[in-house]
Amino acid sequence: MDSQSVRPLLDDICAAMEQREDRGRVADYIPELAGIDPDQFGISICLADGQQLSAGDATTGFSVQSVSKVFTLAIALGRYGSRFWDRVGREPSTLVFNSVQELETRDGIPPNPFVNSGAIVTTDSLLVGATPKETLAEIIQFVRQAASDDDIYMDPEVAASENASGHRNRSLAHFLRACGNLRHDCDLTLGTYFHHCALEMTCEQLARTGRFLAGLHPSGHLIQPGHIRSINALMMTCGHYNGSGEFAYRVGIPGKSGVGGGILAIVPRRASIAVWSPGLDQFGNSLRGTAALAKLTHLLRLSVFSVS
Ligand code: GLN
Repeated sequence: MDSQSVRPLLDDICAAMEQREDRGRVADYIPELAGIDPDQFGISICLADGQQLSAGDATTGFSVQSVSKVFTLAIALGRYGSRFWDRVGREPSTLVFNSVQELETRDGIPPNPFVNSGAIVTTDSLLVGATPKETLAEIIQFVRQAASDDDIYMDPEVAASENASGHRNRSLAHFLRACGNLRHDCDLTLGTYFHHCALEMTCEQLARTGRFLAGLHPSGHLIQPGHIRSINALMMTCGHYNGSGEFAYRVGIPGKSGVGGGILAIVPRRASIAVWSPGLDQFGNSLRGTAALAKLTHLLRLSVFSVS
């Protein structure tokens, strides 16, 4: 896979996505995200030779939301190693990403770090020995280093908007706390969680941030290779919530979605890919983003399940 073979495909994919009538529904449970134009589509890919190729709205910023859970997991694994898994499982979920029922049936141990309950526990683990401000600074520092870009911020208005309407997440935090699986005050942990979900990035920045998961960061491994393997496995099996089977079937590489419409997808050793289109499918995953990745992995035979 080199830039000459990829370049025309990106333009073709962009044109195909423009023609698609069905664009899905923009997430409206976070009021600040409800007014986003669903017609936007961007894609960017970082290749093993250091080149980056983009098409469409790849330099427009968007709210990465749950894609940020990959970065908090990376930091938490670095800090706790395998002890992290005492508090969070590694199994796909069967219900919606903010399900209280799923947490309740597991006695307060979230199924995996990518559903909301699991990500709230991850954030809680990062708050040990640090203030929310210090924790958010650590997350932003990690992301900027991964992206080789200091121009990355969290949008306080998106965080405030989610805080004002985040009753589901509040109920998850309180349930976790009742089960003894949340060390910090619910509001303190949620405030930190809402802020890291409110990271704003362009497709170009997100694709560069993902290089460390493909083993392609220019300064070598940012985290232990064993942790990279763990994260990619989790992205493959749980990165799209109860739509993860569908994503593996159609796209066939590790990916993590967010309700802002972004997806970070990884081809280990070969590429880091970011796509963005705000309209979501019934699982809360980007509709056109998934379709674009399915087309790309099909054309370049990138699915890990492909034999030809
Ligand atoms: N901040 C969002 C929430 O907690 C993240 C969910 C998502 O992107 N799937 O609901």
